[in-house]
Amino acid sequence: MRSPVQEYLESIVDQCRSTDGEVASYIPELADADPDRFALALATVDGHVYTVGDADARYSIQSISKPFTYALALSDQGTEAVDAKVDVEPSGDAFNEISLASDTGRPRNAMINAGAITAASLVAGDSGEPRFERVLEWYGSFAGRDLEVDEDVYSSELATAHRNRAIAHMLREFQILEGDPEESLAQYVRQCAISVDTRDLALMAATLANGGVQPVTGTRVLETTSVERVLSVMATCGMYDSAGDWISAVGMPAKSGVSGGIIAVLPGQVGLAVFSPRLDSHGNSARGVELCERMSRDMEMHLMHVGRSSNTAVRNRYPLSQVASRRRRPDADQAVLDEHAGRSVVYELHGDLLFAGAEHVVRAVVEDAPELAVVDVRRVDDVADVARVALRGLRSMLREAGSEAAVVDPHGVLHDPDAGTEHASPFFEDRDSAVRWCEDELLRRHGDGPADERAHVDDHPLLRGLSPDARRVIDDAMEHLTFTDDELVLEAGAPFAGVHVVVSGTAVATVEGPNGDRTHAVAMNPGTSFGELALGADDVQETSIHADGDLTLLRLSAESIDRITADQPQVAVEMWRAMARDGYRMADRALRSGVERG
Ligand code: GLU
Repeated sequence: MRSPVQEYLESIVDQCRSTDGEVASYIPELADADPDRFALALATVDGHVYTVGDADARYSIQSISKPFTYALALSDQGTEAVDAKVDVEPSGDAFNEISLASDTGRPRNAMINAGAITAASLVAGDSGEPRFERVLEWYGSFAGRDLEVDEDVYSSELATAHRNRAIAHMLREFQILEGDPEESLAQYVRQCAISVDTRDLALMAATLANGGVQPVTGTRVLETTSVERVLSVMATCGMYDSAGDWISAVGMPAKSGVSGGIIAVLPGQVGLAVFSPRLDSHGNSARGVELCERMSRDMEMHLMHVGRSSNTAVRNRYPLSQVASRRRRPDADQAVLDEHAGRSVVYELHGDLLFAGAEHVVRAVVEDAPELAVVDVRRVDDVADVARVALRGLRSMLREAGSEAAVVDPHGVLHDPDAGTEHASPFFEDRDSAVRWCEDELLRRHGDGPADERAHVDDHPLLRGLSPDARRVIDDAMEHLTFTDDELVLEAGAPFAGVHVVVSGTAVATVEGPNGDRTHAVAMNPGTSFGELALGADDVQETSIHADGDLTLLRLSAESIDRITADQPQVAVEMWRAMARDGYRMADRALRSGVERG
């Protein structure tokens, strides 16, 4: 199946076939270029490359080399040392102007020849061949393949490089170059003669778009801070003396070269390369400029284009009272939660958390001032460092106000820098566990603590309403059972086995999925009981019950119930009445518990 992206790229190449402009001729070897060659390549940050036209045809990289050598100088010497030699101010001059900034005495930027020759001199390594080998290898790591020099272009340009030679000697005179100016000149001219095709250039651009990681090889070539620096200089100075026009019309950091190439970078998305040797009056590929303007418009690639505002980071926000955890709570505990859970809030976040998204979350939480918060980031794709810092600040603020946020982050997108320390927020694999944690915390704050911190047998609805006689009979009939972690207590499908009162620990009911996987349905702790629901399901146990940690139960078995019913009708009536009351109580709670979300 043909990709619509491919079709679009082909159609746009077809529409930009004007024959304005002249091939550069001041470098003799370039004058021979076929003026009608035309190629386009677009490389995505995940390494897919679309090409149209003659994308494998080779030509010398020329000035498109400048950002890459500047990047190497930054990476070899550090930003400060490079800044001491080359400025980052747009010059508005022609690329080969023989001048230095009158105020600083330095070349204006690394995209004009004076700055580029200086950058070439800042590449580390022994002078001559070894240093150039580093340059060649460096470009190759952006392109993802080994590159070579077009020796004819090199010697043709070196023999006629009077202007660049003048610039190099001027740089030496003003001590911007510290070594032999001829060597820096040769180094620069040689880097301009490195042979590439349009596909290579798109991948080189995509490496910058991808924050310095080559999208196909996955190698980190350049640190992100240097990527930012290089792209900024490309944005303001990359298109000779039409940089202002370009950034207004196309809106992408770019660099062009006199052989007819242009690269453009859309950070985080794509690297673009066009090749067409006819140049406009600024020395930029005429068709290349037209094509990039069209693409930027059609595909909304302008960096200043405001696509969507990022104020939707909080997709859902509701009080904790709307999402009772699946833990069955005894009445007293439930009453505490009914009263207090409305002042704690669940926040479901989604998308990429950049600055604006994090600000939105922080504002929502500050507005609510929740007693406790559940922050659910399961649907968050990516978190910028600035967002991480904001969320950390939010946590300290909550703590100062006596609050705490339980974080649901099974994929670890938050990368809490405090993970593993006492400062970390409580983290949970699923929302139910976080909600349960908040409920327990509310019970500690407003009640006697969660039921599993107390012994509750006497309070159990099955036992507490019985007369002393009936209670004695039932107590005698109940068996004391213990289970260890994960041990099966009741199996789904088994016949009614009796009523089980949790004495200590936790039992979990699970439902078996179609693939045999267990879905955790309900957790039961002291003060609750299970097994009796089978009476409402043709005497068949519908869920499997396992111990979650050590578990102690009192069981009034089905046989005991039958025996009491037959032998002691008085006790049986009391017992059945208590069971019915407990059944109605659970049904009522289920009806009132609201909608279980997400
Ligand atoms: N090597 C060429 C020069 O310095 C590069 C010019 C360019 O591509 O702009 O003249």
